[in-house]
Amino acid sequence: MNKQMKNILKTYFQLDHFRTGQIEIIEAVLQKHDVLAMLPTGGGKSLCYQLPAYILEAPILIISPLLSLMEDQVEQIKLRGEKRVIALNSTISINERKRYLTSLKHYRYIYASPEILQSDYVLRALKDAKISLFVVDEAHCISQWGHDFRPDYSKLGSIIKELDHPPCLALTATATKEVVEDIKNTLQFRSHSKTFIYSINRPNIALAVEKHASIDEKIGRILSLVRSLKGPGVIYCSSRLWAERLAQILIDTGFNEVGYYHGGMDQEQRILIQQQFLYNQLQVVCCTNAFGMGINKQNIRFVIHFHFPSQLESYMQEIGRAGRDGLPSLAITLLTESDYEVPKVLVESEFPSYEKLYRTIYYIHGKQQSVSFNEIQEQSGLTDIQWRYLEYHLSALRGRYLDPDTLITRIWTEIEKRIMVKHKKLLKMTDWLNTDGCKRQKLLAYFNEQPPVHTIENCCDFCGMAYKDFEGESHYQTQTADIEWERELYAIFHKASD
Ligand code: ADP
Ligand code: MG
Repeated sequence: MNKQMKNILKTYFQLDHFRTGQIEIIEAVLQKHDVLAMLPTGGGKSLCYQLPAYILEAPILIISPLLSLMEDQVEQIKLRGEKRVIALNSTISINERKRYLTSLKHYRYIYASPEILQSDYVLRALKDAKISLFVVDEAHCISQWGHDFRPDYSKLGSIIKELDHPPCLALTATATKEVVEDIKNTLQFRSHSKTFIYSINRPNIALAVEKHASIDEKIGRILSLVRSLKGPGVIYCSSRLWAERLAQILIDTGFNEVGYYHGGMDQEQRILIQQQFLYNQLQVVCCTNAFGMGINKQNIRFVIHFHFPSQLESYMQEIGRAGRDGLPSLAITLLTESDYEVPKVLVESEFPSYEKLYRTIYYIHGKQQSVSFNEIQEQSGLTDIQWRYLEYHLSALRGRYLDPDTLITRIWTEIEKRIMVKHKKLLKMTDWLNTDGCKRQKLLAYFNEQPPVHTIENCCDFCGMAYKDFEGESHYQTQTADIEWERELYAIFHKASD
């Protein structure tokens, strides 16, 4: 088996050696076990399903959370000369889809979103193609989103059953013990399943948290970091507004190679920024958490959190985008007292408030017929995400003939539970930010991992790290570089507090 695998590795992937975990995972997959595998970001998870495709007889189905991620994977597979790959998503026309669906069994890799699998037509076609392996990439999304605004994630287990239970491979880089269990339960793993957990530590990424007195001070710090650190880099913000604002501030101070990225931009713009960053035309991208998944850029040297994310899983994913090439990289979080409030509000805003829930349920009840989202939104002011959450719970309770008040109570209980879970995760995040010990040790402990045996040169701000190891040439234009420092700062702060 090993010899055959090595040949395939060489022939189809032009690679000479397997990385940690890959052989074990691939062997378990080929033995038809249900497998959950945790490898660090950039650890080579894709190979764990892409290689078996040359041994298994029938197509492999890969569930992927994002359109951009899917297209990126398809592109990379095509680049290595494999043509038998297809992505089933909302961008292909109905006619095309029909054509593809009748010829699915000729493909080696079929990528799909959880949402598209809800179509009976698609599901039947996949069943006819006799899928040989059901892969869930970025499987922590099941736990992170499946309970809330992407409920189709939580239906994947029954879809696997519908497909006559092909073996399942769930891949992730960030899962706590609880999340691992949640994934296995949701995907209805059978009793002979295997779990491979490898260290998700990224020793080449130094970890720092800096406390600042004010937002203005943080902005000043961003400027000096961007000025001195070796790029390219990513700056995460909690809102679209801040992503744009920070980019503008950097541009205004003479830093040209900077762009912003968030979910509110149209697809063309987003692809443009992504490509420019990929090909080093942009040095810095200021963005929301919409940026990053599926961006296979090897040389990101720093990830700065201008605002911290609402859970350590997201933090780990986001910093993990740095240093995929294994070279020293830096993850810095900038913190002020006022930052703590925002994520609390964000967590709650994912769910309908009691008042909106009440209004919506009574509105639907009064109509006695199906109502459109537009109509509901006008009546109750629900956001897209809140409605998706509510719709899922309503459909789960459909047919039980509950009166509106019981319905409201039931759903509200669920919402309160979910908010509590999310608040607990947020608390772990803020605990970590304020930890007095080794940041790496504490971060790994959250993912139930022991601290590394070897000491790391630039570990974290507690164990000691030298910023100068991450410094490089400045990308500011020369004529603006000698503007008087105070004057420059004044202009920036003035702008930031508009
Ligand atoms: P992730 O675990 O984050 O999904 P990927 O599967 O995208 O990581 O792989 C990251 C990079 O590592 C890719 O460029 C891939 O080609 C490379 N890679 C994967 N396996 C190997 C290997 N055995 N030897 C060398 N490079 C590898
Ligand atoms: Mg991956």
